[in-house]
Amino acid sequence: MTDKQKLLKFNPDQIEMVNNSVAMAEELVSNHFKMSASQWLHPKYDVKTLADLAPDEIVNGPFAQVIRYKGRRIGKTLESASYDLYKICLQDHSIISILKSKKDLRLFPFALYIITHELIHIVRFSKFLQSFAASEDEKYLEEARVHNYTRLILNDIQICGLDKVLAFYSNWQIPIEGVRLS
Ligand SMILES: [Zn+2]
Repeated sequence: MTDKQKLLKFNPDQIEMVNNSVAMAEELVSNHFKMSASQWLHPKYDVKTLADLAPDEIVNGPFAQVIRYKGRRIGKTLESASYDLYKICLQDHSIISILKSKKDLRLFPFALYIITHELIHIVRFSKFLQSFAASEDEKYLEEARVHNYTRLILNDIQICGLDKVLAFYSNWQIPIEGVRLS
């Protein structure tokens, strides 16, 4: 188990930047898939940074992972009252480490890419276009698809440093992040 105390966490300025990137990613993904954010994105996912992660939500390597939890509406006991809650677990330590080693990457556009990418995974899970039971080959193909969508959505956005992030991800032999059930 990873000792959370020893890992680098985002400082308050960085948290604010990440929050801004979440808001923007949500809008971009909602627009792209023509969904109303308040209707079905909001209650269904949450973005957490390292400070709020449980030990088993921390991984080494990927910059984030998505975990699906089963939620239950308070006061209801019927199965129909349960719903899926996706938790995007940002791995501060891995993000900080890559930003340190690649000086042309900046946090805001980098976080924007990551969150946009994870939201696309969530949308595709919600629409049953992606399965948790996928084989390794299918997971790999799906990852390529999600990177393509991410690029499509971010390509025309004018944000300082985003071109560097897109270049970084253009060959993504970086570890595939986990998308798993709780
Ligand atoms: Zn992915």
